[in-house]
Amino acid sequence: MLFGECKSILRRCEGDEPGKRDKFMKLVLIGAPAAGKGTQAARLVEHYSIAHISTGDMLREEVAKETELGKEAKAIMASGGLVSDEIIIAMVKERIKKDDCAKGFILDGFPRTVVQAEKLDEMVKLDKVVYINAPDDVMLERLTARETCPKCGATYNKLFLPSKVAGVCDVCGEKLTQRKDDTLEAGKARLETFHTQSEPLVDYYTKKGILFEVDGTAAIDDITKAIIEGLGEE
Ligand code: AMP
Repeated sequence: MLFGECKSILRRCEGDEPGKRDKFMKLVLIGAPAAGKGTQAARLVEHYSIAHISTGDMLREEVAKETELGKEAKAIMASGGLVSDEIIIAMVKERIKKDDCAKGFILDGFPRTVVQAEKLDEMVKLDKVVYINAPDDVMLERLTARETCPKCGATYNKLFLPSKVAGVCDVCGEKLTQRKDDTLEAGKARLETFHTQSEPLVDYYTKKGILFEVDGTAAIDDITKAIIEGLGEE
C-alpha cells in the first residue's frame, strides 16, 4: 500500500534511511474516525522502529476469528459504539508486554475514554500525544470513501489515496471492500461517540502538557512532517 511511497517521504523528511532512528517512544494518536491515525501510525512506526498497536485492528481480528470477544464486539463496532473499557484495557495491557514494544509503541485508537487514559497512565509513562484534528464533514466524506483490503489490511481512499486499479488491492490483488462501520449511518454514530467519549482526552492530555495538535485536513505527507517535527525532530 503505502510503504514504498512512505519510505521515500520519510527519507526526504529525515535525510536518512528509514528505520534507523531507534528513539524510544511511547505515543498516542487521537483523532476522529478517518482522521488518518492508521495512515500516520504506519509511517511513524517505520520512522522510529517502534510497534503499532491498533485496538480497532485487534478487535477486527477477533471478529474474523469468531472468538467470544469477537462475537461480543461485532455488533458494537458495527453500530459505532465502544467496546467496554474493561475488555480493551485488558487487551492493551497484554499487548504492550510483547517483545516488539520493547523500543516503544504507537497506540492508535486507544485510549478512547478518560477511564482508559487513566488506566494507561498506571501502566506506562507516555512521551507524547498527537491529536489529529479535522472537522466532521471532512471526516464523514473521507470515511465513506475509504476502502480496505480484507486480505492484507491495506487501506485506500477513493478521494485522495486510490488504488491503482479501482476496487483492487495494489499489494495483493484482492477485491477491496468497505468496512461495515464506514457507512454514512455508522460513520455519523462513530463521530458522535468520538465527541462525547473521546474528545475529553484532548483536555486530559493538554493538562498533562504532553499533547500537540496537527491539522488533519493537510496533505498526508505534511501531516507526517508536522508530527515528526512536533516529536522533536527538524
Ligand atoms: P478503529 O479501527 O480504531 O476505528 O476502531 C473500530 C471500532 O473498534 C471502534 O468504532 C470501536 O467500536 C472499537 N474500538 C477500537 N478501539 C477501541 C477502544 N479503545 N475502546 C473501545 N472501543 C474501541
